[in-house]
Formats: sequence, C-alpha cells, structure tokens
Amino acid sequence: MKYSDEQKADFLDAVKDGSFCIFPWIHMYTEPDGRTFPCCTVEQDTINENTKDKTLEEIFNSDDWNKLRLDMLNGIKNPICRRCHGVEESGSPSYRTFANGDFGQYVDIIDETNDDGSVDKFKLKYIDVRFSNQCNFACASCGPVFSTKWVQMAKENAEANGRTFNSQHKYSKINNHSKVDIIKQLEPHLKDSHQIYFAGGEPLIMDDHYKLLELLEEKKVTDTKLRYNTNLSNLYYKKKPIYEYWKNFNNIELGMSIDAVGERANLIRHGTNWNILEENIKTLLPYENIRLNYDSTISILNIDHITTMYDYILEHNLVKEDTWFTTNIAYTPTPFSITSLPPEVKKDMSERLSRWAEQIKTRDMHNNVSHYAIDDISSKMYNLINFMNEKDTFDPKYFAIEISYKLWYTDKWKEIPHFKYIYETYVSKEHKQRWLNEE
Ligand code: SF4
Repeated sequence: MKYSDEQKADFLDAVKDGSFCIFPWIHMYTEPDGRTFPCCTVEQDTINENTKDKTLEEIFNSDDWNKLRLDMLNGIKNPICRRCHGVEESGSPSYRTFANGDFGQYVDIIDETNDDGSVDKFKLKYIDVRFSNQCNFACASCGPVFSTKWVQMAKENAEANGRTFNSQHKYSKINNHSKVDIIKQLEPHLKDSHQIYFAGGEPLIMDDHYKLLELLEEKKVTDTKLRYNTNLSNLYYKKKPIYEYWKNFNNIELGMSIDAVGERANLIRHGTNWNILEENIKTLLPYENIRLNYDSTISILNIDHITTMYDYILEHNLVKEDTWFTTNIAYTPTPFSITSLPPEVKKDMSERLSRWAEQIKTRDMHNNVSHYAIDDISSKMYNLINFMNEKDTFDPKYFAIEISYKLWYTDKWKEIPHFKYIYETYVSKEHKQRWLNEE
C-alpha cells in the first residue's frame, strides 16, 4: 500500500482524535517474563504473545499486530489502545502523541504494509526490552513482577509468619525462557535504532544491559539515544564506574525515579539511601552527554511533600540547564491515587500546591535550571490540583487495607501528617483491627 505525504501528515497529526500510531511498525515492548506488546501502554489482556513461543519477528507479524496496523490505517480505534484513546478523550496528550511526535520521521514505513497488515521490513527504531525483574528496591508503586527485592521481602514475610511462599513471579529473566537469545535477536536492529529504553527492574544492575552497551560500542553505534528509568542507587558495575560504559555515547537521558527526598524517599521507594543518591546525582552532573531528569510518581504518599522535594533539588542545585521534571500520576491502586483523599485534605493540598506554583515562578534561581522547566513544573502543580479534585474515590476501608498491604514492612507511614489524620479521623475500629491483622 502507498500513502501520499498528505495522508501521512494526517495520520501523524497527534492533536486530532485519530487512531494512527507509528509504534506497531517500529517498536516493541517486552516484559521480563517474555510477554511482548506494541508498547508499554496497551491493554495487556487484549494481546497474548510471548518470546517463549515466538521470535520477535514472528510476534511483530502475528495476527493481533497485523490487525492493529490495519485498524490504525483504516481509522478504527482498536481496543488494544484503549488507554491512549481514553487519555485523549479527557483532553490530554497520550503516549500515542509522544510516539507520533518523536518517531513520526519514520512514517514512510507504512508504505511497506501488506494487505494482511504484516510488514516485511522488520526494523525496530525504538527498543524497549526489560531484560529481567532484578531490582534492589521495593517501591510502593511496584511489586514482584518488576522487582526481585519485592519477591525477597514477600518470601521473608511469608516465612516469618509460618506461611508458604508461592509467588508466581520470582526471578524472571527473558533469556531464561526465550525461543531465541534476545540480544541476538536485537543485534540486527541496533545499527539503525533511534532510541533504546532501559528500565526494569533496575537496569544499572543488570548484566544484559551492559552486554547490549558493549555490543553497541563494538558496532560503533554511539549516536542512538540511550534512555533510562533508574533508581540511581549504584554507579558501578563489576567494580568499573558506569560512566566508563557510557563515555562514548553521545545522548544519554536518565529518568531518575525519585518521588521524595530524605527519609520519605526510603518510605516510598524502599531501599533508597538519600545521601548516596544525592552523591550519585552530583557525580553525574558534570557529564555533558548525560541529561538528568526527575521522573516522579505522584500519589497520596508524596502529594504533601512534592514541593519540598523540588525546593530541595533546586536549592541544592541538583539540576542542569536541560533538566526536566515529570509528574506521573499514580492511578492504581485506587487508594493510592490523590483522588482518594478526603475533601478537607484535598483542599489543604490544593492550597499548598497553588501557593508554591505561583511563588516558584518569581523566585530568584541561583542554579542552572531553565525557566521553561520552572514554568512547566509550576503548571504541572495545577494539573495535579485539577486531577485530585476531578473525582472522589476516598474510602477509609480501602485506604486502611491498601496501606497495610503495600507498606507492611514499615510503620513510618504513621509520621506522614495526612495519613495520621485520615487514620485517626476516618478509619473505624473494625478496620483498624483488620488492618492490624492483615498480612
Ligand atoms: S496508540 Fe497508544 S497504546 Fe496503542 S500502540 Fe500507540 S502508544 Fe501504544
């Protein structure tokens, strides 16, 4: 099929309420257990392909992927992409917006689409393979699927309470069960790749991450963008500074998963040593080929603290000129969403956030960060306020149950003022008791 330049431009116009997305032609996302999807945002229960049974190329040209491509070209909204459509309907940019914006230059590939939706030219421009769930942190927003630390803690907890540990997710590594070695499968795509995304688990402690870096160097592929989500707890691999692995790459972007500073950081992302993390940020600040961004998840665990965190980062100059701040709103589990706060707490948080948003724009900055980033983070505070007040999902019973389930390993949450308030004001005696008995 051939498409005119005009048709292609129409397809890519991400602002329009469209169905087209470039990802199913140029991108694949693979989880540590081998499940493989057109991107990390699809509805995972609508598509079932695994590297255990098929190669990446076979998955790329499987029936569901072919139908998805044809639907996109025919203006049909395939349910696989329901999340993007939902986000766009609420008026916000979706992952599709990002896809068509950042990778639209490769749109000519759609001319290679066969009548059945398959594509003979299998060339990945954007690679997102989660090699394993190896991780040294147990974040409240995560679980055993993506963290071996979570697996270990759940096991220890079960054993301490005389229960059998039967998590289906233990250590999970793609290459332990792939039909063909995953790095071998990626090798032909490296030369023309535009971006490789490393996340996990924690990519900076994974062997396969370094194997891929070595392969990229060997093939002299040093211009492809290396993008990471990392807890930045560690800057060495086998006693060698990680920068030694990065020094020849021209474009590295670290999305640092940081939701809080100090003690609160360890409460939300269990395993954080704030002093080490701060030192690691300082170590990387001077390197010109590394961009350092703050990638924060916003939930009831840090909505009261997020401006304190930004103040600390700015006051301690833990930024560069191109540093960017991302606020990812936690939607699930529902009790952790900022919509799940009682009205008077929302009112208090809204006032704090809007005060800060106004004041930060006029503050004298004695650091490098750009005014674009400051304006952006200021406007993001209003997005948080709008989202928080859009609906009411507060339920004291589920608040109690979810906190006990997710934060069972600590009682530090009791020091968070609005948690203390909710617990004392709203959680009934019955649920307090249930809370104590919950495992
Ligand atoms: S439309 Fe959204 S969910 Fe679908 S492939 Fe593109 S980015 Fe992924």
